[in-house]
Amino acid sequence: MQNEEQEKIETWVKAAADFHGHLGPFLVLGVRMGLIGLRELQTSRGDLKLHATAILERAVPFTCTIDGIQIVTQCTMGNGRLQINNTKNRFAARFQLNQKRRVTVTLTPARFEELKNALPKTARSYKNIQLAKRIAFLPERELFTVEKK
Ligand SMILES: [Zn+2]
Repeated sequence: MQNEEQEKIETWVKAAADFHGHLGPFLVLGVRMGLIGLRELQTSRGDLKLHATAILERAVPFTCTIDGIQIVTQCTMGNGRLQINNTKNRFAARFQLNQKRRVTVTLTPARFEELKNALPKTARSYKNIQLAKRIAFLPERELFTVEKK
């Protein structure tokens, strides 16, 4: 991964952890999904036409991802530009600018299983922080599939 891209991820992960209250792998996934969404749609944070949908089970720690998406994209529950599609056994985020331009970023099923099995019981544990850091540094293609329309 390019240095610049990695620095961007790290900067946003710090901001997200501050907002969210702790650092964990699902928060980092949200940051990375949000950044991919912005890049693929060639837009930037705060675009009022941008809408996000988090496709995931509405339970912690999966919902930690939402805070990562919100801080990176400024699509929030509060401003009505973020929705949750409560879905078991899938973990994805969709970003949409209009009917024609949208991108779906999906965590690979193998990685999703791996993460679910690796999660420690306590959110603030050392292991959770280690997992988060690993997710922050893994190459994008080892985490996600990206479908553009
Ligand atoms: Zn969390």
